[in-house]
Amino acid sequence: CCNNRRKPEWLKIKLPMGQLSTGVLNIVRGHNLHTICTSGMCPNQGECWGAGTATFMIGGDVCTRSCKFCNVATGRPAPLDPREPENIANSVKLLELKHAVITSVDRDDLEDLGAGHWVRVIEAVKRENPNTTMEVLIPDFQGRRELVQQVIDVRPEVISHNLETVRRLSDSVRSRAKYDISLEVIRQVSESGIVSKSGIMLGLGETREEILQTMDDLRAAGCKVMTIGQYLQPTSANLEVKEYVTPETFEEYGRIGLEKGFRHVESGPLVRSSYHAEKHVK
Ligand code: SF4
Ligand code: SF4
Repeated sequence: CCNNRRKPEWLKIKLPMGQLSTGVLNIVRGHNLHTICTSGMCPNQGECWGAGTATFMIGGDVCTRSCKFCNVATGRPAPLDPREPENIANSVKLLELKHAVITSVDRDDLEDLGAGHWVRVIEAVKRENPNTTMEVLIPDFQGRRELVQQVIDVRPEVISHNLETVRRLSDSVRSRAKYDISLEVIRQVSESGIVSKSGIMLGLGETREEILQTMDDLRAAGCKVMTIGQYLQPTSANLEVKEYVTPETFEEYGRIGLEKGFRHVESGPLVRSSYHAEKHVK
């Protein structure tokens, strides 16, 4: 109840929810869709929704995993909604998105871990929106290469899979996902020629050396785009913030990342996986 740790000035932001963002909200609600922007309590909601961008979350709003940084509900998910592919595709069209970002909860309860649903959603979005580019933020599919390949085969422009944190903290921060399996997913995407992307959160107790090593590990897996943002504790049940990293330090990591060969690095306190995603296609 008493989180005394005060947030630094640079994290105290207002959320400007304008006309357009209400429009996004109505379309999303009208189609029974979930966005990570709301369920993840993303601090950029004002900016992104104001600009008509949103990250759709498919596969329901209940996850089979329980990562300690994440605010998505854990439990037994409802059956997949067979209308979801069409609903997402139509919403992308109604919102006139040039670039759509789609993510999902993990569906370890399904035989194919949700890969088939992913394929149907990507195909539907492409069919209805031939000029819209797409980034898909996929789960690790428990490291099953044939399932990752199904997503690769329908050729979204960007495939991202987040490491979330450095190697040492991975097992205590993420539920089930393994650092090396995630690197393999990223390597498989990179080798397919599709733009690969990954992200980590800072403020969980990682060191500078560990952050630089994570960058090297990602580059060795061929990763082209990296996002680095501040972890913010979504509820008192989630992990505590160990450190608020300054904007200057974030900037420095951004520079170092570019030197290490990433094509794009988004690094800043409010950066989230899908922040400025439209810039990462090329
Ligand atoms: Fe939504 Fe991503 Fe923007 Fe956050 S950064 S509001 S999750 S699109
Ligand atoms: Fe959240 Fe982890 Fe589930 Fe992803 S896999 S939605 S981070 S609990």
